[in-house]
Parts: sequence; C-alpha cells; structure tokens
Amino acid sequence: MTPRRLLLLGGTTEALALAERLAGDSRLEVISSLAGRTVAHRLPPGRVRVGGFGGVAGLKAFLDAEKIGLVIDATHPFAAAISRHAASACAEAKVPRLQVLRPAWQPEPGDHWIPVPTMVAAAAALPDLARVAFLAIGRQELAIFAGLKTVRLVVRMVDAPAQPLPLENATMILARGPYGIASEEALFTEHGIEVVVSKNSGGDATIAKLTAARRRGLPVVMIQRPEAPGGDHVETVAGALAWLKAQ
Ligand code: NAP
Repeated sequence: MTPRRLLLLGGTTEALALAERLAGDSRLEVISSLAGRTVAHRLPPGRVRVGGFGGVAGLKAFLDAEKIGLVIDATHPFAAAISRHAASACAEAKVPRLQVLRPAWQPEPGDHWIPVPTMVAAAAALPDLARVAFLAIGRQELAIFAGLKTVRLVVRMVDAPAQPLPLENATMILARGPYGIASEEALFTEHGIEVVVSKNSGGDATIAKLTAARRRGLPVVMIQRPEAPGGDHVETVAGALAWLKAQ
C-alpha cells in the first residue's frame, strides 16, 4: 500500500511530538514544515522543509505537486497567517485539514490580567501600569513598543536578533523555555519588573511567568488570540492521532 502523504505545519512542541509519534508508521509519509524563523532546537524526524510557501497559491501548488493527502496545522495559536492560508489552500485542493490548537490560559484567583486584543493595544496600556515591563512576546513585533519613553523594557527571546533591537530603553535576555516558577520570580526581582506582557499562547512551557506574576501580585497584559479559521480542530496530540485514525 502506498503511504498517504501528510503535511505537518509545525514550529511547536505539539508538532514535534506528533512527528515523533508518527515516525515509523508505514501508512503515512510525514513532511514537516517549519517557517525557519528560529534556529531549530530539535528537528522532527522524517522529511523536513523550511521556509514560506508563498501564500495560499504557493501552498496549494505544494499540496498538488507533492500529492499531499492530509494536512495537520499544528502551528502556534498566534501564527494566524499560515493557519488562514492552510484553510484556504486545503479547501481549494480538497485536502482534509485538522488544526491542533492548545487551550488558551484562563485566569485563576489572584490573577490580575488585563486582556487586550492586539500587541498595539498592549503597548498603549503600559505607561499607565508600570515603569518596568517584562516582554515575553518573541522578536517579530518588538518595534511596536519603540515609542515608550517612560517604561523600561526587559525583553526575552529565543535567538539574538540579526539587527539591533528596535528599542532604546531595553535589556535583552536570551533564553529558551520551559521556565520554572522560582527562576521567573528571581528574574522579576532582579530586574524590578512591575508588569508582564504575554500572548495567551497556552501550554506548559511558558506558563511559569504567569504563576510568578500571581505570586508577586503583578498585573499581566494578556494579548488575546487571533481568530482561528474554523474547521476540524483538536487540543492535543492524542486528539490529532484520533483524527488521523478516523481518516
Ligand atoms: P504567521 O504570521 O502565521 O506566518 C507568516 C508566514 O510565515 C506565513 O504566511 C508563511 O509564509 C510562513 N510560515 C509560517 N509558519 C510556517 C510553517 N510552519 N511552514 C512554512 N511556512 C510557514 O506565523 P509566525 O507567527 O511568523 O510564526 C512562524 C512559525 O513560528 C510558525 O510555524 C509557528 O508555529 C512558530 N511559532 C510562532 C509563535 C508566535 O507567537 N507567533 C510562537 C512559537 C512558534 P508563506 O505565506 O510564504 O507561506
């Protein structure tokens, strides 16, 4: 039997775990796709391609050329463009698609979250909240915080940026999760953090900063998720395996 080709859109721990679970399954040939934004920490097993497809048309052309029979979009909840493109390209190519979307974090008693719809709204909220902010939002949208004159920024990211940070008043920390609660609290103390800015990414790897903020009574400016494109979705790797079985 010819194995069915599965395109696995990745860049998350779920995608890596799924690729590892599917390695050696003779019914499937998995092609993992990474955006190539960060230096890959661990590559998934099997075939891996790196870089954008070129929008919906490029992705549709890839699905056709590679005779892809199934797509699993296990990209990050904030990777809205690729998820939208995957939904459109799969609809056009009539390829079944599943989105793996981990649950959003929910506030707990003692949390002081300030929900905002966008990164721009997060930056606008900061001057009224604090003089020192911890940004754990990645590299791509840092320029949005450039105009803040009264707020010192402590910015954590995985890889050093190729260009200098587009910020005047900032300290850069390079680190890769998962992080512990005690080390997050120590970091907040060391830098005199008064507010935390976070995307509502969900998952375990970066949740410690929220627990640390709760313990220290710090507010968290929580950026809400972009809208997902709809269609089949599950929250976990186990859910994705069940969906595959049903296909
Ligand atoms: P995005 O805004 O949705 O994507 C921008 C463009 O990057 C897409 O239009 C696509 O280019 C390309 N792209 C994104 N993911 C791709 C993939 N897995 N394979 C091939 N091309 C991909 O996404 P993003 O926020 O820049 O995130 C990029 C990657 O980093 C994602 O794979 C995501 O899972 C991972 N990541 C993102 C975050 C986050 O907070 N956004 C956090 C952790 C990991 P074309 O239009 O040319 O196809």
